[in-house]
Amino acid sequence: MTTKRDYYEILEVNRNATEQEIKKSYRQKALKFHPDKNPDDSEAEVKFKEAAEAYEVLSNPEKRRRYDQFGHTGLKGGAGGFSGGMSMEDIFSQFGDIFGGAFGNAFGGFGSFGRRAGSTRKRVNRGSNLRVKVKLSLQEIANGVEKKIKVNKYVPCNQCSGTGSKNSSSYHTCHTCHGAGQVTEVTNTFLGQMQTTTTCPTCGGEGQIITEKCNHCNGHGIIRGEEIISLKIPAGVSDGMQLSMGGKGNAAARGGVPGDMIILIEEINHPELIRNGKNLLFEKYICFSDAALGTIIEIPTIEGKARIKIAPGTQGGKVLRLKGKGLPDVNSYGRGDMLVNINVWTPKILTKEEKKVLEQLGKSENFKPNPTSKDKSFFDRMKEYFK
Ligand SMILES: [Zn+2]
Ligand SMILES: [Zn+2]
Repeated sequence: MTTKRDYYEILEVNRNATEQEIKKSYRQKALKFHPDKNPDDSEAEVKFKEAAEAYEVLSNPEKRRRYDQFGHTGLKGGAGGFSGGMSMEDIFSQFGDIFGGAFGNAFGGFGSFGRRAGSTRKRVNRGSNLRVKVKLSLQEIANGVEKKIKVNKYVPCNQCSGTGSKNSSSYHTCHTCHGAGQVTEVTNTFLGQMQTTTTCPTCGGEGQIITEKCNHCNGHGIIRGEEIISLKIPAGVSDGMQLSMGGKGNAAARGGVPGDMIILIEEINHPELIRNGKNLLFEKYICFSDAALGTIIEIPTIEGKARIKIAPGTQGGKVLRLKGKGLPDVNSYGRGDMLVNINVWTPKILTKEEKKVLEQLGKSENFKPNPTSKDKSFFDRMKEYFK
């Protein structure tokens, strides 16, 4: 392992240097060791990369603090740590803008290192995104669903097949850029010849000139239309979630790339079941005698009614867990559970006779509360709900 040089030393600034001073110094170093100025000079390339690495750390307050405290070791590993070594492409994509006006597009168009394309490519029209809201019941969410919806949107013009021109002879390749959509200008600077690439002013970057517009779409290549789109909604989605279908949005002008369709999920509340993530909650009151003697109750589930057993001596607040009767997880395997909270109904109105019987029963030793560790506490039940 080679010993790394001190970052402040590389940029020739003192340890209290301001952000501005660091930026200024890096700019000077980067211009000095720029590969365009030092072709085939590996030493210059090393210095160029070294300066970029130093700047990457010292221009970031958090990384600079760690470096000041722990030196190079402070930057190894961990989130946001410096992984060591930057490629030329990284340097230009991260710090290209630091050279500002002085170099114009020089950094963009140079040699084999060239920056990622994008600004220098033929302009492609892009259709706008289409947003639709889909209301789903809990049943549909549980199983996933396919919905067919009719949308009003821009579609390619059928008269001109989306080209925007009246017929095949009513457009021609742009004479200025010869169809490339961009023009390259060569200028002389003190660093030598520099290439500047800009959008073609004649055709606006499209590469073609329409001489006679299609009457149907007025040259736009798109018209308002209807489309029936089939939406496949996966199981387990939730309210507020957005799904995206690439290419199903509005068509783009003159044969570009269509936009996306963004589907916003809206959940229709179930009349009885409450959703909590992938679990379903339900509350059931049973009468005191059923709680004491045991019974069978009917509860709603996603798939319809189900019958469950209540054991004799069931306490109010007991949570019964029905494994796998909840909802699927949209991001993974497995299903949630259904949790049934049992409540015991205490009568509010009593006849004279009922009062007498209860007074009698209340004297019994068996009616005195006597919870054991088997009767879960309130906190245990809460844990049960949220686990
Ligand atoms: Zn052109
Ligand atoms: Zn048309």
